[in-house]
Amino acid sequence: MDATNAARGLRLCDTRRRNVSRADAVLDQIGLLRSRISPHRVGAAFVESLASGRLGLRSGLGSYAVALRLPLHRFSSTSGDRRCQVCGGYDTENLDCNVLNFERHKWGGVRHDKPAYIAFDLERFIAESAETSTDCDREKLDRLLATVESVQVGAKLSELVRALKSVVPGNDAQRRTLVAILGYAGIVQIADRSGFLRSFTRVADREETPWYKDDWPYPIRWWRGGQGIDAEAVRLWFGEPPSTGGAAGVSI
Ligand SMILES: [Zn+2]
Repeated sequence: MDATNAARGLRLCDTRRRNVSRADAVLDQIGLLRSRISPHRVGAAFVESLASGRLGLRSGLGSYAVALRLPLHRFSSTSGDRRCQVCGGYDTENLDCNVLNFERHKWGGVRHDKPAYIAFDLERFIAESAETSTDCDREKLDRLLATVESVQVGAKLSELVRALKSVVPGNDAQRRTLVAILGYAGIVQIADRSGFLRSFTRVADREETPWYKDDWPYPIRWWRGGQGIDAEAVRLWFGEPPSTGGAAGVSI
């Protein structure tokens, strides 16, 4: 963990050790934060993390991707359920920033689809990414994507995580998070499942698989080898910035 970033995160937590996560306030915060970040910015930070190991910045792509088309709605739950049926947020929730900060730096985050984490992560991303390069190191990215495409048809997620060992430094838990981020961002193709790239999949519509019991998030839990890479998603996140004409095919 980068010591400076950790200190910043902890200071942030000290000012927030209170009951802040009322769902509507968190949603409003996400709306403001995402408007200050571009797809290219989180994409570049993700690629930079492949070499630098700055996992906190890698996390931003996952959170931003889930937030990209998140409807700015009001809390909506069914009787007896404290969880919002749209985004999964809780009307009242204790946000422990120390835990979120630890997860962000240790693994690149583990709750990219949880509104409280998205708000925390995007705020930290804006604060910490100012000094990072916006250049995209295509060689490292291309190696990563080529490895994803090279796994055998029907391969399981555990096999993909293993295949990435020679491409992505770190441990298996960190590579597992990276794979989940590829799913949130729609970079890997997942047949017959809408994720978050072209439309937002509500919590109530994120189907469980019949085969995994080990907490892979949606939509990556539905991935199998051989489905390829989404070229439009790659252009959106890693292509030229929109001002120079990139991101054809997926508009924001
Ligand atoms: Zn909600």
